[in-house]
Amino acid sequence: MKRVNWIIHLVANGVRCGECGEAENGFLPNMCDAHTHGMDKYGHQEFQMVLMIGPELICYILNELGLRVQAGERFKDGESVSEIIKDFDIRLKEEESDGKKLLRVILPDAQGCFPEDAQCAEYYNQQHYPMRMLYPNRSIVN
Ligand SMILES: [Zn+2]
Repeated sequence: MKRVNWIIHLVANGVRCGECGEAENGFLPNMCDAHTHGMDKYGHQEFQMVLMIGPELICYILNELGLRVQAGERFKDGESVSEIIKDFDIRLKEEESDGKKLLRVILPDAQGCFPEDAQCAEYYNQQHYPMRMLYPNRSIVN
């Protein structure tokens, strides 16, 4: 039976820290740091998402990838992955976060454009930024 045995951390503007009660506001608008912990159980890199499309959708996408890893699939930098979202493939890009390399999910915009495309919609075009640019006013250590 398929069972989610990893966790998802979502660090985003307006989310209060469980430790200190402070609300986070250090991210660029509409950007966040959502990432898995537990893919290492499968000898796999963790996944990350940085576009704040809402916690439900973020968890859905990260869990779909996790379940595919659990079922034996392996993903790598530069890969396009189908059957995660409707109509388009997503892409995976290796990025460093907290000194660790993980696979960042890059979502296409409604037109199917990715960040390197000049037509790519606002916010979607920031998904390839390094974390220090997405999170310039970091206040919480996660
Ligand atoms: Zn975390």
